[in-house]
Amino acid sequence: MSQQVLTEPSPKQSIGAPPANNEHRHFDFNRITDEQFNIAADHMKLDPEARLVLSSPYRELIVQLPVRMDDGRLELFHGYRVQHNAARGPYKGGIRYHPNVDLGEVRSLAALMTWKTALVDVPFGGAKGGVTVDPALLSQSELQKLTRVFAQKLDMALGVYRDIAAPDVGTNAQIMAWIMDEYGRKHGYTPAIVTGKPVNLGGSLGREAATGRGTVIITREACKRFGMDLKKATVAIQGFGNVGSWTARLIRELGATVVAVSDLYGGIHCEDGLDIDKVCAHVAATGSVVALPGAKDIDNAELLALPVDVLVPAALGGAINRDNVESIRAKLIVEAANSPVTPRADENLRKRGIRVIPDILANAGGVTVSYFEWVQNLQQFRWAEDRVNTELEQKMTAAWDAVYEVHETTKLPMRVAAYVVALRRLADAIKMRI
Ligand code: NAD
Repeated sequence: MSQQVLTEPSPKQSIGAPPANNEHRHFDFNRITDEQFNIAADHMKLDPEARLVLSSPYRELIVQLPVRMDDGRLELFHGYRVQHNAARGPYKGGIRYHPNVDLGEVRSLAALMTWKTALVDVPFGGAKGGVTVDPALLSQSELQKLTRVFAQKLDMALGVYRDIAAPDVGTNAQIMAWIMDEYGRKHGYTPAIVTGKPVNLGGSLGREAATGRGTVIITREACKRFGMDLKKATVAIQGFGNVGSWTARLIRELGATVVAVSDLYGGIHCEDGLDIDKVCAHVAATGSVVALPGAKDIDNAELLALPVDVLVPAALGGAINRDNVESIRAKLIVEAANSPVTPRADENLRKRGIRVIPDILANAGGVTVSYFEWVQNLQQFRWAEDRVNTELEQKMTAAWDAVYEVHETTKLPMRVAAYVVALRRLADAIKMRI
C-alpha cells in the first residue's frame, strides 16, 4: 500500500474538471427523468405497485478508483453503477467517462435504459455506469489502469445474466475490451459481459453504426408520418462522435442534406450541404469538425438555432433548455442524445408545434444491436452485418409503430406515448414476478 497521502480531489477539479470551453451546464437529470416518468404514469394510470417499484433504482454502487498516474502521483477517481430495474431481463447499460458524471446523472440514465429496452422489446432491464473523469486528459496507459480498476470494483455487480456493460460518451470498443479482459481474469473468457466490443473480440458487425442507424430509421418514419420529404430535408446535427457522425453518414444516404454539424469545440455550416466523408477525414486529422475548408465556422448556439427541417441533438443532455428554446427554428427534433431537451423546453416546443421524437425511441438502435451482440456471444455464432441491420430495422419500425399508434389514438405527445408503451410492458412483467 502506498505511503503517499491521499487527498480526495473534488471531481470538478484537476483531471475531473470540465474543459474551459465545455458549454455543458449541470442539470438535475434525475429530476428530469422522474418528471417524464410521472407525466406518463399519471396519463396511463400506471398500476400503483409497478409505479412504486419503478420510482427508484434497485441498486446503486459508488466506488473509489485509485490510479497510479504516469508521473508517479496517485489520483483518486469515483465510479458509479446504477441498476434501475431488471423485471424484463438482466440490467443493461453503457459506461460514461465525463467530468460531469455524478450519481444523479447515472441514476437518470439508468432509468432511461429501463424504458428504452422495454420500448424496443429486448429482454433486458436498465442500468448505467460512469466515472467522473475527462478521458482526454489521461494517457492510454492511465486510461487502461482506470478502466481495469473500475472493472474490478464492478465485478460484484456484473454478470452475463445479471448486468452487461456497453460504451457511452467518452468510452469506446477499446475500453470494453479492457473490461472484458479484466472480468475474464477472474471468471474465464466471457465476451457477453460487455457489448460494443471490437469485432475481432466478439463484437457485433453493425454495432458501431447502430445508434445512428436507428436514429435515421426513426427520422425516416417520422418524416413519412408527419408529411415531410426526407430527400428534400435539411439536417443539423449537434455532436459528431459515434452517434452524430453515423447519423450524418446514413441520413445523407437517404437523400437528406446535412447543412451543419458540431462538436465540443464548435460547429460548421454549409447551406449547400456538407460532404460528410470530408468532415470525417477532417476530424480524423485535426480532432474537430471546426475549420473545415469550404464551410463556415459557427458555434453550438448558432447550430441549434438554424432554420432546418430536422435538428438532431447527438451530444449531451440539456442541450435544448429554457434559456435557448425560443431560438429553436427546426420543424422536427430527433433526440439522438439522452435527455437533450429539458421538460420546460419540451413544453415550449410542443406549444409552438415543433415535434420532438424522444430519446428512448430515437437512440434505441444501440441497445438493440447490443442485444444482438449478446445473443451472438451466447450462441458463439457471428451474424452477417445484413442480418444485424435487417433485424435492427424490424425492431426499430415495430417500436415506432407501437408509439405512433398510442400517439394517434390518444393524441399524447410522442414522448409520453413512448413511455406508455414501455411502462405497459414493464407493469405486466412486474405484476407477474412480484
Ligand atoms: P461520443 O463521445 O462518441 O461523442 C460525443 C460528441 O459530442 C463529440 O463530438 C463531442 O465533441 C460532442 N460534445 C460533447 N460536449 C459537447 C458540447 N457541450 N457541445 C457540443 N458538442 C459536444 O458519444 P456518443 O456515443 O456519440 O453519445 C452521444 C449521445 O448519444 C450521448 O447523449 C449518449 O448518451 C447517447 N447515446 C449513445 C449511444 C451509443 O451507442 N454510443 C446509444 C444511445 C444513446
